Amino acid sequence: MRIVLLGPPGAGKGTQASRISDTYQIPHISTGDIFRANMKNETPLGLKAKEYMNNGQLVPDSLVIDMVSDRLQQEDVKKADYGYLLDGFPRTVAQAESLDEINKNNDGGLNFVINLEVPFDILIDRISGRRICPVCQATYHISNNKPKLDGICDLDGAKLFQREDDQEETVKNRIKVYQDQTEPLIDYYKDSGILVNINGLQHMDDVFTDIKKILDGAN
Ligand code: ADP
Ligand code: ADP
Repeated sequence: MRIVLLGPPGAGKGTQASRISDTYQIPHISTGDIFRANMKNETPLGLKAKEYMNNGQLVPDSLVIDMVSDRLQQEDVKKADYGYLLDGFPRTVAQAESLDEINKNNDGGLNFVINLEVPFDILIDRISGRRICPVCQATYHISNNKPKLDGICDLDGAKLFQREDDQEETVKNRIKVYQDQTEPLIDYYKDSGILVNINGLQHMDDVFTDIKKILDGAN
């Protein structure tokens, strides 16, 4: 299965992506996670991406497209019958066009584009309360999705942290960037017959139930 998760920052893409990837055994590819790992290791790609990310801007298309193109050649994707779950890519029309091109070269188009709909006024609270595990990247929320022990990852006991770009001022910028550059993708995919809108305002378990219905073909 080849799936794209769309939605504004804080819509719940990462939260749902982990569940989808576990349930359907397809590689979860988060471009944000890949950039953060590169930044942490101070690779040339990480150093190039850092300033854009910390300002809430998109990393230039050419850097992102090459990175995703390489990632989609890896063994886990091949093993899953050229299956993947993209979280945070594409984010521009140029990226969506490149993904179509990559898929064409691999004889495998997208099966689903899942668009998580959440009103903008909810996003700031979701993002400013987000906490991340530096080891396994599990995502929590200080009130909606608390870890068992305050500030500690349930899965590996690591100390949770707040992403630098999750500060309120940067978040506003990211939402604006989403509206300008990523929202047009809804139109891009509208006529393809594979776009599904999901109410992301529900409890995360109910969001996942709706997604499962779609993926299992029950709808
Ligand atoms: P995205 O990857 O789209 O930016 P995340 O999955 O990281 O979003 O979720 C953003 C924050 O909102 C996290 O702190 C997460 O725990 C919380 N969250 C995710 N889904 C829901 C939901 N359905 N209801 C309430 N909070 C949620
Ligand atoms: P969120 O969870 O809020 O949706 P991500 O973790 O997906 O955020 O992305 C964090 C940052 O990484 C973005 O604000 C952007 O700077 C960069 N980034 C991630 N994916 C892309 C992409 N496809 N194109 C350009 N920049 C990206």
